Amino acid sequence: MYDIAIIGAGPAGASAAIFTARAGKQTVMFESNKGMTKRAWFENHYGIAEIGGPDLVDIGKLQAQKSGAELKEETVQSISPIDGGGFELTTDGSSYQAKHILFATGVLTDLAESAGIATKPGTEPRIKTVIDVDAMGKTNIDGIWAAGTVAGVSVHSIITAGDGAKAAINIISELNGERYVDHMMMKS
Ligand SMILES: Cc1cc2nc3c(=O)[nH]c(=O)nc-3n(C[C@H](O)[C@H](O)[C@H](O)COP(=O)(O)OP(=O)(O)OC[C@H]3O[C@@H](n4cnc5c(N)ncnc54)[C@H](O)[C@@H]3O)c2cc1C
Repeated sequence: MYDIAIIGAGPAGASAAIFTARAGKQTVMFESNKGMTKRAWFENHYGIAEIGGPDLVDIGKLQAQKSGAELKEETVQSISPIDGGGFELTTDGSSYQAKHILFATGVLTDLAESAGIATKPGTEPRIKTVIDVDAMGKTNIDGIWAAGTVAGVSVHSIITAGDGAKAAINIISELNGERYVDHMMMKS
């Protein structure tokens, strides 16, 4: 069983995966190649002068994989709870088990709705529906979290990536039973 399954490997999902994998949590990302970020050109992402969306997404996924996350290029079609805890995720031909699930599905909320996750109207331009989360990124179902566009934050990559990182740190902290921080020092 994975510690965390992340649905969506755009800025929110891959950013979360970098943190959970670096924390030693068994992490799997699912990606269906329907993200909005590949259509964008970025000049407002702190620390990056300019970059095309396809490069940003590819670098993010590679960074998550280098950190230890697995990437499955599969569409998650259903989620169901497992007796005794955790969830089963079903894709086109396979099934996976995870203790926690993070939705980072961008504009897509159909899977969340079919799994009984509470949604609400979006507030950001062109975002009709979002998953209802608390300040930690938790949904109405214990063990299921959401981050990024689908969690209702402002639709800018630095914010969606940061929101994914925030949710990941909260999940890691819950798994560890204490607040988590991931800092490294300059090598001299
Ligand atoms: C044309 C355009 C221009 C933009 N320009 C800018 C800009 O200049 N600056 C800026 O900051 N932002 C810009 N943005 C917004 C930016 O792309 C988003 O804010 C942000 O990157 C969204 O990240 P995300 O991870 O929330 O969603 P996404 O990048 O959409 O990622 C969600 C991922 O979830 C996957 N997914 C969904 N459902 C499933 C499923 N069931 N199974 C598996 N995978 C699934 C999708 O394939 C997708 O890759 C622009 C957006 C567009 C469309």
